[in-house]
Amino acid sequence: MTADAGPVIALRGVRRTYPGTPPVHALHATDLSVGAGEYVAIVGPSGSGKSTLLHLLGLLDAPTEGVYELNGVDVAALPDADRTTVRGTALGFVFQSFHLLGHRTATENVELAMLYNRTPRAQRRTRAREALDRVGLAHRRDALPTTMSGGERQRVAIARALVNRPSLLLCDEPTGNLDTVTSGTVLDLFGGLHSDGLTIVLITHDHAVAARAGRVVEISDGTLRERGLHA
Ligand code: ADP
Ligand code: MG
Repeated sequence: MTADAGPVIALRGVRRTYPGTPPVHALHATDLSVGAGEYVAIVGPSGSGKSTLLHLLGLLDAPTEGVYELNGVDVAALPDADRTTVRGTALGFVFQSFHLLGHRTATENVELAMLYNRTPRAQRRTRAREALDRVGLAHRRDALPTTMSGGERQRVAIARALVNRPSLLLCDEPTGNLDTVTSGTVLDLFGGLHSDGLTIVLITHDHAVAARAGRVVEISDGTLRERGLHA
């Protein structure tokens, strides 16, 4: 459903209010455009609205108001089944806590991402191995996550996120559970994927992590501000 060479992400007037007494205005009316091949970090303190924004971008949640176009398609208006399809084909997710199955090998964890799309069974293993190669884990493909370091686990999760060749990689605090050295190797990997043309949106509270991206957007109390535009 990729329409043209327009932006990958276009948010117009998107906001999210969680109902309650009182309601929580987690994200105020937001405009955001992310072009193909951009590497954008969204940085802000705890409670500023980062996960809310990532859940909206990842179609895990719907805006209270506003328009979200992903690859030119108005995804907020899609029925749930179509949103699930878009999530499984156009998007890759990397989370702080890896979300791997501990009793399945690295290869099997990556293969699971292809269970619910049209990848023929015979191709799943080959593609899983290619994705593990890409993240530097060819030698660990038969290992169980329970025997892996944090950095290796996160690289398996990145391989799983990449295996369906998404147009957008969404990362929520991907180095939050890693030490500084291991964080550096994961960030090097994102840098390489960006060089290969992948579009990346990375959310973090850590300004040193954000500084690795080509573009930094600050978020504070549910409001985005492009760094460099309002010195
Ligand atoms: P961050 O990821 O930057 O820490 P969040 O997006 O998780 O911030 O949260 C932004 C604000 O919205 C916070 O005030 C948080 O308490 C509130 N919030 C998040 N999720 C919910 C929810 N499901 N219901 C009510 N309030 C929520
Ligand atoms: Mg969060």
